Amino acid sequence: MGELTYPFEGWPQPGETREIAPGVRWLRMPMPGSLNHINLYALEDDAGWTLVDMGLGDERTRDLWEQLFSGDLAGRPVQRLLATHMHPDHVGQAGYLSERWQAPLHMTRGEYYQARAFSQGGGMGNMNWEGEAFYRGAGLTADDLATMRKSFGGGYGASITPLPLGHHRLQHGDVLTIGGRDWQVLVGAGHSPEHACLYCRQLGILIAGDQVLPVITSNVSVHPNEPMANPLKDWLDSHDRFLSLPDETLVLPAHGEPFRGLRKRLRALIAHHEDRMLALEEYCTRPAIARDMLPVLFRRKLDSRQMIMALGECIAHLHLLMHRDRIERVTGEDGVWRFRSIDPDLARRLRAERDTPDDGPMMV
Ligand SMILES: [Zn+2]
Repeated sequence: MGELTYPFEGWPQPGETREIAPGVRWLRMPMPGSLNHINLYALEDDAGWTLVDMGLGDERTRDLWEQLFSGDLAGRPVQRLLATHMHPDHVGQAGYLSERWQAPLHMTRGEYYQARAFSQGGGMGNMNWEGEAFYRGAGLTADDLATMRKSFGGGYGASITPLPLGHHRLQHGDVLTIGGRDWQVLVGAGHSPEHACLYCRQLGILIAGDQVLPVITSNVSVHPNEPMANPLKDWLDSHDRFLSLPDETLVLPAHGEPFRGLRKRLRALIAHHEDRMLALEEYCTRPAIARDMLPVLFRRKLDSRQMIMALGECIAHLHLLMHRDRIERVTGEDGVWRFRSIDPDLARRLRAERDTPDDGPMMV
């Protein structure tokens, strides 16, 4: 991981932008907790700005936008909003900004409609029988569920401004011409359903959103709204689209600092998840429940909110292992899932022995 390089020193102050390539401005908006900030990008065109991601739907972020419109971004209107994905720190101000500038919101269909659906309920506080069965399966008690409901408060809809009623659909392979340069839409998945990244070959820049981050690993979770999802497979599969980009590509992530070393970072992330899966397989040589596996993946003591995120991630790893026929899941009479390793090859893999080389390549 130490091999990544960070070409910029420091970062833009709140309410200011920093031009990091011709026509590409970097700005940051505040976030609570350890995340601290989200990076947003403004792309310049004669006709106006394209804003890539928009920050949380809170007053502080809105005030900072207004400061930018009368400061660093003054002189041009906002012409287009583009949200990489549906999470509140990315799409929170989309409704406000769209009204403010009469600017259309560009998003993939999967992200837009999930955002619309989540903003009308369906957050953690509004769980139905299937959501409860999901968390019971993972090993949570009724008390845990009650605490969790409280800690998630108003949910998704409370952290965004009401979304625009329509969207301009982005699809993988689309090309947007902004400021005379082509930006290609590359769609990933796993962190969110249909995450859009933007790649400009001419500038050698990838605006990566949360698809790939330099320091932390993107959350890849199973949620009760799709209890049998296999998002870690989606996420690893979509790396293929990014592994083929030049390694000198400047990656502009949503959190952390712009960096170079995309392929190294992706390989490190892939290795990290493979390693975590192996640790889970080892743990599950005796039948185990998801909740008890959290210390295998996370060293820190987790509060109720973090535990839900951690459980989602743990289940994502388990689902990929089930898909690979390495783990099976049995639901007990108590409704709790027990996971058990079933790969006869596990002991060999745990010893990290490698096959001896073949004599020579196959000639057929
Ligand atoms: Zn996200």
